[in-house]
Amino acid sequence: MSYKRTEISSEELRVQEGFMAKVRELNASRENKPLAFVDTYGCQQNEADSEKIRGMLAEMGYDFTRSEREADVIVINTCAVREHAETRVFGNVGALVHTKRAKPEQIIALCGCMVQQPSAAERLKKSYRHVDIVFGPHALWRFPELLYGAVVGSERLFAVDPSDGEIAEGLPVRRDGKIKAWLSIMYGCNNFCSYCVVPYVRGRERSRRPEDIIADAKELIAAGYKDITLLGQNVNSYGGDLGGETDFSELLRMINDLPGDFLIRFMTSHPKDAGEKLFRTMAECGKVAKHLHLPFQAGNDRVLKTMNRRYTRSGYLALAERARELMPDIVLTSDVIVGFPGETEVEFEDTMTLIDRVKFDALFTFIYSPRKGTPAAEMPDPFTREEKQRRFERLVAAQNAISAEKHASYNGTVQRVLVDGLSDDADFPLTARTNGGRLVHLKGGRALIGDFIDAKIVSSNTWALFGEAIGADREAEK
Ligand code: SAH
Ligand code: SF4
Repeated sequence: MSYKRTEISSEELRVQEGFMAKVRELNASRENKPLAFVDTYGCQQNEADSEKIRGMLAEMGYDFTRSEREADVIVINTCAVREHAETRVFGNVGALVHTKRAKPEQIIALCGCMVQQPSAAERLKKSYRHVDIVFGPHALWRFPELLYGAVVGSERLFAVDPSDGEIAEGLPVRRDGKIKAWLSIMYGCNNFCSYCVVPYVRGRERSRRPEDIIADAKELIAAGYKDITLLGQNVNSYGGDLGGETDFSELLRMINDLPGDFLIRFMTSHPKDAGEKLFRTMAECGKVAKHLHLPFQAGNDRVLKTMNRRYTRSGYLALAERARELMPDIVLTSDVIVGFPGETEVEFEDTMTLIDRVKFDALFTFIYSPRKGTPAAEMPDPFTREEKQRRFERLVAAQNAISAEKHASYNGTVQRVLVDGLSDDADFPLTARTNGGRLVHLKGGRALIGDFIDAKIVSSNTWALFGEAIGADREAEK
């Protein structure tokens, strides 16, 4: 094939397998199986990366613990999207001085987007000397080599060189659950929204081969997974780097055609590349969940332009309308930023009217956080934190009312839901998700976990639906 590939070679991966074997040998000679603690901040991509880190750790002979004190290896997978996430990481890492003092052979590793930023790596190097290994998203596949280095040596190891990024296929994975699974279809981002750090830390867009994705999907379905979420920063541009052979809609169709009873979800869609072909594919594919997460970020054209989002308010509204025309019961969710530099009160009103027009089922609302190195961080930002907070609260209150109303419209309906776990509500002890991804607290027996069932929705609030498994009494009697 003629397109440019950016894959880590099998020779390089074999070298890493060699390091895994060495660590496994060292661990096998220990009296008790060593323990690892993996903590994850941020988005689903990070969750998926942590599953690979756990996979590699398991291969290297580690068991897992939720206690930092007990752990022989601590890995913290960090996020850089907002300052708040970084502050929390630095706070928690600072506190690990004590666990390390009590257990000097403990190895502390930090990875993920935050550490890929030179300023954060520098700060860790200078002021967090108890951290042994620091590696960015580009060096994830080299974790075995780094861990081996830390186990046998005493030098601190930093693998945070800038890179456009590559693809490492075939890393071991240890998944968190048995029902829902993440499946990365592409990495990186080319969009450079002016507020966002992701393109700087995760490199350029690169798509996995369709055949590799299909092989993973088949494996997940065979293992009994019922809910598969395809991951990418902008899944709609999937395949652009594969010479246009397979685009995202075609990939969806290929997975939809696999035999089995399962649902396909995906995140995130960028409005500039979403449209008719995607919506038709979603409408036609029975296994593709009728849920579209389509971040709009701002309702005003000047702000959208300054954000470098490359669509307009009317363009966005037309997309939402078309998606609803083709899929009347689609669940629409979105992300929005409040307080982008220079966004005026009048411009913010455009965000308020947009949510009123679209009536999203749910909205993820963020107050703008300046990120070093991004264009927006250099823009004049005259509005105070209090002003932004006030707008944020108005927006959240308006959306809460919309979500509550949307949820109320489910009352009395029967929904096919996937039962996915236990809730902490004694009256509705199970959790489930509708096809559109809405959370349901459910009455019914544990045996239903992992099944698609029909549920009668009996009540709702802003955040969730409450329902009863139809035939649950009979199930319980069995
Ligand atoms: N690739 C995805 C989103 C990745 S980040 C997309 O384009 O939709 C997830 C969300 O965090 C974004 O949608 C945005 O709403 C928010 N976000 C990103 N950078 C931010 C910043 N600097 N300040 C506040 N929110 C931000
Ligand atoms: Fe960030 Fe924009 Fe890329 Fe999403 S599309 S990751 S918001 S730069």
